[in-house]
Amino acid sequence: MSHIKRFMERLAGDIKFRTAVSESADAPRAVTERYGIEVDPLEILPLWRDDHLTYRYKPESAPWPLSIMWDEYMRDMLRHRDLLRDHGDMSMTNPRFHAWRERQIRRCNDELGGSAPSITHPIIAFELREGCTVGCWFCGLSAAPFKGYYEYSKQHAELWRGVVGVASEVFGPAARTGFCYWATEPMDNPQYDRFLFDYYQITGALPQTTTAAPLKDEALTRRVLGLFNLYGTTMNRFSVLSTAHLNQIHRAFSPEELTGVELIMQGKDAPTAKAFTGRARKRKEKLSARQEAIALTERNHTTIACVSGFLVNMPQRRLQLVTPVPGSERWPLGYRIVGQRSFRTPDEFRDGLKSMIDQHMLESPAPDLPIRFRRDLEYTAGDRCFHLRSRSMEHRVLDYAPISVGHLIACGNFTVSELVMRASTDGMSVLAVADLLDQLYAAGVIEEDLGDRYAWQTSDGMKDRIEEAQG
Ligand code: SF4
Repeated sequence: MSHIKRFMERLAGDIKFRTAVSESADAPRAVTERYGIEVDPLEILPLWRDDHLTYRYKPESAPWPLSIMWDEYMRDMLRHRDLLRDHGDMSMTNPRFHAWRERQIRRCNDELGGSAPSITHPIIAFELREGCTVGCWFCGLSAAPFKGYYEYSKQHAELWRGVVGVASEVFGPAARTGFCYWATEPMDNPQYDRFLFDYYQITGALPQTTTAAPLKDEALTRRVLGLFNLYGTTMNRFSVLSTAHLNQIHRAFSPEELTGVELIMQGKDAPTAKAFTGRARKRKEKLSARQEAIALTERNHTTIACVSGFLVNMPQRRLQLVTPVPGSERWPLGYRIVGQRSFRTPDEFRDGLKSMIDQHMLESPAPDLPIRFRRDLEYTAGDRCFHLRSRSMEHRVLDYAPISVGHLIACGNFTVSELVMRASTDGMSVLAVADLLDQLYAAGVIEEDLGDRYAWQTSDGMKDRIEEAQG
């Protein structure tokens, strides 16, 4: 498997290899031997030869069992990704956070286009450095230049273990979805593995690592891979920045050593689409100003942010509640910051978590705040129903209220309590309307980003009321 994996990596990341294999169609083994890959390409034809690709995932691929084995492995990887999303379940440990996260997942599936299926919505991420030394041109999070890392000193280790302990206590097993980088490069912290091991000891799970600098401190990378071999369950990832980088990685690590590492080809010609956020967004805007085409796949790749939950910056002792959104002028990094707190101790960290859950994770839309549909949704009235169309799907909603609830929400001129009064004529219909609003809210089609002036630009009066309501 590890050698088939290496074959596929070279195919994706090295045009010379691709050409050499296809030009030696009768004896491609000589090419793989040259690259130290112990696979005869003739035994995996459906994985690479144009005229055999059509057999993939079909009974016709039976003569190539190694090819079937690879496809099954890839299917397992996708199934594992879906399981990771389920690991964030907090229905028993923290029902309010659970309902909020579920709502964000539904919204993201509706709003994020091609990015949505790969997002697992971890509930927490930690930054253990400030800025990043790598400076990738495509950085979807526009990482700032490197300023330093969070040392594993006695004092820091104490705070770190305290904070992870609180996360584990407040979120239960869902804390195992956490990871330890964000707009930062893990290997910029030479003591990164010590933080990982603490996390494993406290939560029972070793955080996953994605690095674009696996060769920066090879000993550290090997320690991280060693921890994965002992305790890991989620594949690590190396971002490969060019074919030269791929060559260096393949020289440094054997196919067997990289069995648990997914290589993501990020070179300029690589097949990996870049999300329309951060530095990649700026570059694409320049391209489009020069009238160069932006591939549809890239326009549909709206964000690389994945956390629906808390982002914790340890050097700054800052706690933010975040969730993925499509990259935009308002949220250029592809995630929305819902709220923010600072902390100095594990107790303050716990207080910060609790107060943000209380303030932002409401079970129903707030009665005194305006209500309207998400701005990306197209509203159409129907007969005793209405339709909401997003980039990915269409919702049909039954609407039997005396005055259409859909119409009143689409107007965007009412608070929730005003709308309930307008749409109802008696006690029964008040309950029915409130119930419909709750269902729409849980479905994620109600705008939650009320601070977004762009969403409300049709009504100046409403802007003032939002500001008033939000203090
Ligand atoms: S993509 Fe990762 S490694 Fe590259 S600049 Fe951004 S944070 Fe750093």
